[in-house]
Amino acid sequence: VPVLLHFLLTANVSSLTNLPTILLVGPSGAGKTALATRMERGPDAQPTETHTTTNNHSIEIETPVPSSSSESPSSSGPSAGEHVKFLLTDTPGHGKLRARVFNRLDAMGENDKGRVRAVVFLCDAAALSDPDSLRHAAAYLHDLLLVLQRRASARIRAGAPLAKCGNPVLVAANKLDLFTALPGTAVKSNLEAEVTRIRASRSKRLLDSGVGADEVGSEAQDDWLGEYASQKFTFEQMGEFGIDIDVIGGNVTGEGPGIEKWWQWMAYRL
Ligand code: GDP
Repeated sequence: VPVLLHFLLTANVSSLTNLPTILLVGPSGAGKTALATRMERGPDAQPTETHTTTNNHSIEIETPVPSSSSESPSSSGPSAGEHVKFLLTDTPGHGKLRARVFNRLDAMGENDKGRVRAVVFLCDAAALSDPDSLRHAAAYLHDLLLVLQRRASARIRAGAPLAKCGNPVLVAANKLDLFTALPGTAVKSNLEAEVTRIRASRSKRLLDSGVGADEVGSEAQDDWLGEYASQKFTFEQMGEFGIDIDVIGGNVTGEGPGIEKWWQWMAYRL
């Protein structure tokens, strides 16, 4: 019985339910716990301690879709005011635990109702002007996008329509209430520049071999993020794999644009 109890307490909730899931990832300190708590309990919730469990922490959220001037990208998506129910899975930001996060992505895009619909990559926009923090965040993003790209490539090769191959990603630039925070456009360009460097250093062997894109096998190209052998990485290059990336600034605490735009983005992808 204790073993069963332990299993029930630690099991990933989403494996027990059948709700569409949004995966919340990002480096430690980005504000994942704060965002998940705010979405679960509303803006007046007291901040909670960052949970230290090594399990993904799923919370079930039932909430009305906010009204917005922008149209839903999918006509089948929920409309403003409609109540939607979904799971937000807040994942540990520690490097060693990332494999678990990426394993979770294996459930993405499958045809079941409980699949992961989208990924929110939360980062601290006030920390991204620091080279170490930028490197750390960009390395996480690079690895995340590469996992998504490999899965999409496999599907494309299997002949699936592009729209069904990739998954939408929101780069949520948090802490815009701080005056040191970079605006969304700078978050995008800084992350792209750093991912370009990471990609180049990881793939040095690949390019040094001097073979062109047409000659290298698909396996080698699977190790390269974005447009093969391109000089500069841009988020738009992921479109080739059906992966759309949006960058939107916001803040969980303090004064600023808040979480409304992120929430709209998520609601429209359920
Ligand atoms: P996690 O490691 O990604 O789960 O990050 P936490 O949710 O524990 O947040 C890390 C710290 O950032 C906490 O002290 C939060 O209160 C703080 N934080 C989260 N969001 C914001 C924000 O929008 N603005 C500011 N100024 N601080 C924030």
